[in-house]
Amino acid sequence: MLRFIFPAAILALNLAAQNMPPDAEKQLARDIYKQFIEIQSGYTSGATTPVVQAAAARLRAAGFPQSDIFIGGAIPTKANLVVRYHGAGAHKPILLLAHTDVVEAKREDWSMDPFQFIERDGYFYGRGTGDDKAQAAVWIANLIRYQREGFHPSRDIIVALTADEEGGGPYNGVAWLLKNHRELIDAEFALNEGGWGEISHGKKISNDVQVSEKYVIDFRLEVRNKGGHSSLPVPDNAIYHLAGALDRLSKFGFPIKTNEVTAAYFGAMAKVENGAVRAGLARVAQGDRDAMARVAALLPAWNATLRTTCVATMIEGGHARNALPQLAAANVNCRVLPEDSSEFVQDALRKVVADDQVKITVARDIVKGPPSPMREDVLHAASRITDAMWPGVPVVPMMVMGATDGLYLRASGIPTYGVQGFFFDRDDIRFHGRDERMGVTSFYEGQTFLYELVKSLAQ
Ligand SMILES: [Zn+2]
Repeated sequence: MLRFIFPAAILALNLAAQNMPPDAEKQLARDIYKQFIEIQSGYTSGATTPVVQAAAARLRAAGFPQSDIFIGGAIPTKANLVVRYHGAGAHKPILLLAHTDVVEAKREDWSMDPFQFIERDGYFYGRGTGDDKAQAAVWIANLIRYQREGFHPSRDIIVALTADEEGGGPYNGVAWLLKNHRELIDAEFALNEGGWGEISHGKKISNDVQVSEKYVIDFRLEVRNKGGHSSLPVPDNAIYHLAGALDRLSKFGFPIKTNEVTAAYFGAMAKVENGAVRAGLARVAQGDRDAMARVAALLPAWNATLRTTCVATMIEGGHARNALPQLAAANVNCRVLPEDSSEFVQDALRKVVADDQVKITVARDIVKGPPSPMREDVLHAASRITDAMWPGVPVVPMMVMGATDGLYLRASGIPTYGVQGFFFDRDDIRFHGRDERMGVTSFYEGQTFLYELVKSLAQ
């Protein structure tokens, strides 16, 4: 027996070693990561400028000329960095994107200082360790490594570290760059956050690549009424009109369907799951509508993958305890499949509400991007490297329910893929939450994964 176990153990050790970058590269990435985490760049309270200044100093020290480094942004505290690593120009550039702002974190909500980089029990702790300063640090560290190794890419590699992804708004770096310096970040496609590896019960089960995302429409449902004294009620009541509309909405489901990306997702997930679920997911991937209905009922995430959803999230109304309401209104938040138009959704809502006293209007600007095509080169390279690093772990194309800056890029014609190679326990996702963390091994493996992926796409 020993004879067989021994070589296998050696092989496992070798594989683990190959997944680790050289020590000097690990150290560089860790130093940059620590520096980024310890700069307070909260979306509402912080500044991203010191983050990009730190990155620029690293790049200059490594020999990048000032002319290839751009720093600028909507306001002085919300600067973005764009750096270009020149290639042979055989293809349009690749853009590597990461955001440098983080969700706020209060010391009293955490069991440690969120803006101190702490390594403990196999994890790196700190706000932004997962979202999104690991990728930001790795993009910079790997670019410096390519330079040091004399790598000559076939195309330019552009790294952009940008402001204000969390919540978007007027200082959003990607929107600002697209509007003011499109030529700096124009690319054939981009790699970004939004996809990561999933661990379930201690086992790596998939390396997700985000190919598309739902887009958001907020509708305002509003009823106006002349009101009157509450001692003389009449059936025509603003609150009742709204309540009836919301009750009908609560019982409504948009049509279920798959698209190219979600069908591929369910096909890949079928291989990960077991038993009846496995067979159900496989049937969903083949377009079986009954199976889709059953699968949608199993998990909110699968339901949201299979259809557009609309849900009431806020209400307001009435103006006095003893008066008939003159106003009742609700916000209805819709997460829309890329192939469903806003007109389709609004029309469906109108039919469900079925009450012309309820006025339905779009509450906020809509940013809608097409799904990125399932690019063979990106998905193949991701699969090949994933399989070499973590044998048997599939690459799973995803459409995500949330939104990233990839939306702006897709809307402006730059297909964007969320891919990281960092693995997280899917039952313990701490992005935006307390004690955010990243596995130490996972960080370095992600560094290797992204190093190999970009190299292979730019060779
Ligand atoms: Zn993020």
